[in-house]
Amino acid sequence: MTEAKQWEMVVVDQDICIGCNACVAACPYQALEMDQENKAALIFDKCKDSFDCIPVCPVTCIWKSGEAPEESKEKEGWVHFSKPREQLTEEEKKLYDEWKAKYGIRHS
Ligand code: SF4
Ligand code: SF4
Repeated sequence: MTEAKQWEMVVVDQDICIGCNACVAACPYQALEMDQENKAALIFDKCKDSFDCIPVCPVTCIWKSGEAPEESKEKEGWVHFSKPREQLTEEEKKLYDEWKAKYGIRHS
């Protein structure tokens, strides 16, 4: 089993995010960044489940994947890879699909 298969990662509800940047600053692995809309986005393959980002969010819009509200898990935009999707290895695509299935993530 690779390390990545143990990851739970986090869900960010960008509709609630106020763009304060606190989670980006708190992440020890540079796994969060602000997108073009100034909303926090998770970089899937950098997250290592430290969960330092969760308590610093002033509007409580970050959760562990398994604890996030169903409507938040359906939304797009809050997660991406550090490289273009067409450059993902088959193993990375498989890990992503397994993670989505395990935690009920339904966006593409
Ligand atoms: S869970 Fe940890 S590694 Fe992942 S985004 Fe949050 S602070 Fe970063
Ligand atoms: S800490 Fe919360 S409100 Fe601030 S940027 Fe991160 S997700 Fe958005």
